[in-house]
Amino acid sequence: MTSPLPPGATIGILGGGQLGRMAALAASDLGYKCHIFSPDADAPAKEVSGAQTTAPYEDLDAARKFAQSVDVVTFEFENVPDDVLAVISELSPVRPSAEALHVSQDRQTEKAFINRLGISTAPWAPVLEQSDLSTAAAQTGFPAILKTARLGYDGKGQVRVDAKSDLMAAWTSIGKMPSVLEGFVDFEREISVIVARSVESKTESYVPVDNVHKDHILYSTSAPSSVSEEIGEKAKQIADKIVTALNLVGLLAVEMFVMRDGSVLVNEIAPRPHNSGHWTMDACAASQFEQFIRAVVGLPLRDPSRHSNAVMTNLIGYEADRWKDLAGEASTCLHLYGKANALPGRKMGHVTRLFPAKGCT
Ligand code: AMP
Repeated sequence: MTSPLPPGATIGILGGGQLGRMAALAASDLGYKCHIFSPDADAPAKEVSGAQTTAPYEDLDAARKFAQSVDVVTFEFENVPDDVLAVISELSPVRPSAEALHVSQDRQTEKAFINRLGISTAPWAPVLEQSDLSTAAAQTGFPAILKTARLGYDGKGQVRVDAKSDLMAAWTSIGKMPSVLEGFVDFEREISVIVARSVESKTESYVPVDNVHKDHILYSTSAPSSVSEEIGEKAKQIADKIVTALNLVGLLAVEMFVMRDGSVLVNEIAPRPHNSGHWTMDACAASQFEQFIRAVVGLPLRDPSRHSNAVMTNLIGYEADRWKDLAGEASTCLHLYGKANALPGRKMGHVTRLFPAKGCT
């Protein structure tokens, strides 16, 4: 049995956004310290952590110093550059591992990995150069979505393609980058499963949840999902299969499409806490952030059952200006991320409304 890091040890987190902030708060509850590495001096996670490095992710000297000063390194976003991870991995344990991160950094690698496990995705084909466009379209049909293989999030780096004549314009609009062309699927609903996996290879997953996106950004999550028990079980098994195949220690979020015939397709995976798991902070004895920290430091995982059903709604841009009204609602749990500028599309906070229920799992 691997010994867990003792309280007082320092967890290094690459990335300083709200996911890092909420992870650092959970780490603090368990007696751990956090050191945040981010190029942004005002990063939300830095406000709640004892140590900070402000440097570009490409600064290998800063990454080396950071790795030497912590006991384990994790990350709160996927796009950590390869050479930085390599440098850090030589000096400190990294959980999840660089290998697990690699798979989810690139949509081509990710979809190929998922398909190799016998798990379905929307039909897709790689587009490395312009000449691949028409072969790819022959595989996916129309409508389709062209997505950059790397660095896309919240709908950035994606464009819908309705006909062959739109392919060139779509390719130009995403900057002629290596991409995947994906068939547009007419799903019945979007769900996700968040699964934690410990150093001891034990997995615990939260109940599947329903997600609603607006303008490609998550708008709300309802727990539990209203899918049948059978589909819910299928979704949990898919998440379990992927996290085990990745040999991932940490947290994995798996976003899925439920089709009208009850089949389940994986859309994408994220090897970190996820927006669709924020409801667990208020509706479960152990939040996704606590499970994440436990996995990273080598502690056993907790029971992921919920004591309440919940609806989480993001506060995007100026929606957070309603903080006073929201703070006055007795049954609403308000979380704000400490961000100064409410830019359109920026996640400023979230609220969770609880519906205590009997027999929750
Ligand atoms: P993604 O960045 O891949 O998670 O896509 C963001 C959102 O776009 C998803 O949550 C869906 O609502 C929508 N979307 C992405 N891919 C597809 C697809 N192949 N078919 C239909 N809708 C999609």
